[in-house]
Amino acid sequence: MMLGSDYIYECPKCGHFLKKSTLISGNTFYGADYSDGKSIKPMLPDFPDLTKCKNCDNIFWLSNLKKIGEDDSSWWEVANSKWANVEYAEFLNIKDLFRALEISKPQEEEIIRTWILWAFNDRIRDGGKGMFIEEDDKDLWEQNCKALLNLLSDDNFDKKYMKAELYRNLGEFEKCIDLIESINFNDKNDKDLRWKTDLKNQMKYKAGKKVQSVFKTSKVGKLQIINQNLIEITGRLIQVLPIQTVEVRNGRVWKKREIILEINSIDPNLCVTFFNDKLFPDLIEGSILKVSCVIASIEHNKEWFTRLIGRKVEEVLEVD
Ligand SMILES: [Zn+2]
Repeated sequence: MMLGSDYIYECPKCGHFLKKSTLISGNTFYGADYSDGKSIKPMLPDFPDLTKCKNCDNIFWLSNLKKIGEDDSSWWEVANSKWANVEYAEFLNIKDLFRALEISKPQEEEIIRTWILWAFNDRIRDGGKGMFIEEDDKDLWEQNCKALLNLLSDDNFDKKYMKAELYRNLGEFEKCIDLIESINFNDKNDKDLRWKTDLKNQMKYKAGKKVQSVFKTSKVGKLQIINQNLIEITGRLIQVLPIQTVEVRNGRVWKKREIILEINSIDPNLCVTFFNDKLFPDLIEGSILKVSCVIASIEHNKEWFTRLIGRKVEEVLEVD
């Protein structure tokens, strides 16, 4: 991740300075996607656009302002920069987001209400205690969910999915399932078809279990290199081959079991091999698995074979 220079702005009301970082490059490693549409990508940080002045509390969009300066000093010279004491703009908290609604344009309401939903969910996203801290929090949250439901159109997958999510959050599980089932895909060439189908299944599964809270969605068809010794594959288990015995060096016999994972409809399927105690006999074909494995080359009769050797299997979701 590489940060660029800081942009300097001034509050349109009182002239107080504030600054915002910029990003030159980043990546999506270690990222997570959630059912409420939020993605958290630590290596691709997000900086606020809607913020408030720390001097006069005025709320405004930085993108509506002209930057008045730029601080491109490196970290070792930043202390000497004339902008050194300017504070960074921060994301608004829930109270301020509601204040922002009062001064926003109609076309900004949907995004601000989405941020309010995310801000409530942030309180439990990483295992926090609860969404409602203050007395009127639950009312405010519910009022926001309902208003957002009314704002969202039916014209694309993301909006319909978000509506289904809101019904689920509100405990209206049947409405959630009806809506999710009504989403049809007309374009068979849509490259996200598989991903959208998996999202539908995951939402239906959670609604069926009457789970209301936000959840991390699992990308089926994901191959992530964690480091040289660990690869994580999330895919659909399409075949479990019978246990076999193989002779390894010095006449020792190992048991092995192979499973076939479908990553997506375009790329070739992947075979993962488990040895000995790592045979995982209870796997159900059709389920979505996250498999941690390593790449290893094995010599057999003077020939070399490269395999994915399974280390750990985790069932991500039951599917119909
Ligand atoms: Zn101000």
